[in-house]
Amino acid sequence: MSDRELPGIVVTGASGRMGQMLARLLLESETARLVGVLERPGHDWIGKDIGEAMGGTAVGVTVSGDAVATIAQAQAVIDFTSPAASVAFAELTAQARAVHVIGTTGFEDADLVPLKAAARHAPIIRAGNMSLGVNLLMGLTRKVAAALGEDWDIEVVEAHHRHKVDAPSGTALMLGEAAAEGRGASLADLRTPAREGITGPRETGSIGFSAIRGGNVVGEHDVIFAADGERIVLRHLATDRAIFARGAIRAALWGQDKGPGEYDMADVLGLG
Ligand code: NAP
Repeated sequence: MSDRELPGIVVTGASGRMGQMLARLLLESETARLVGVLERPGHDWIGKDIGEAMGGTAVGVTVSGDAVATIAQAQAVIDFTSPAASVAFAELTAQARAVHVIGTTGFEDADLVPLKAAARHAPIIRAGNMSLGVNLLMGLTRKVAAALGEDWDIEVVEAHHRHKVDAPSGTALMLGEAAAEGRGASLADLRTPAREGITGPRETGSIGFSAIRGGNVVGEHDVIFAADGERIVLRHLATDRAIFARGAIRAALWGQDKGPGEYDMADVLGLG
């Protein structure tokens, strides 16, 4: 396949941690090509070559603040930004009939309504964690929760870098949802609010969450099943954010022949 035939991908939030990682991987990719990079209008990277903006040599792709014109060239948009930005990009990406891969976390229920509307026109692949390992961990969590009774308390503990703005992490919530599903329930019914002060004893069957923030931790998740006298801990440690970027690129390619609709990484990885 010549370079021109490779699916053209636009990366949003180009100056962000994930944006830069995606731009680097796409510039080296033999299966996709970087056709545009977006930043917030007014950002000081706008008008600069993305290679130079990231501290390297020019690569011929200029950072733009014009989302409509940039997305019009894309077969897929990979988006790790903020919920408000991702909702806006979803509408533009659907108008361009391109695949929208959303890695952004921290969505409120109200944000999901416009995403669903956009997915009526083009595929949206959204996952709070794009790694193969975490998606496997979700399947294991569902199975273990289904096998163990309510005398096994379930707690999800996560750790992330000091810059993360939302808690619990999207991944922790996905793991909690998988555990609840294993018990034939919904997380909304089993979730314990963050604990502080005199909380009283633990409610039987509830699912608790704890978040640690510090340093440059890429992402660590433990699902703890604790009974009297024994504990099972399912753990995933991410040591390189390239795993999320590789998963997102794989999703963008997977989505090329899919119809409109909402998909997740279990669909992409064939784990559904
Ligand atoms: P980050 O370094 O803060 O980068 C976010 C980028 O998005 C920044 O460049 C930011 O620009 C840009 N942005 C924010 N709001 C915008 C808007 N309204 N319009 C245009 N650009 C906007 O964060 P990160 O670590 O890369 O993470 C980004 C998101 O991905 C977070 O929600 C994080 O939880 C999630 N994440 C998901 C996975 C996964 O596997 N699904 C993995 C890692 C991270 P400014 O600097 O101008 O604000």
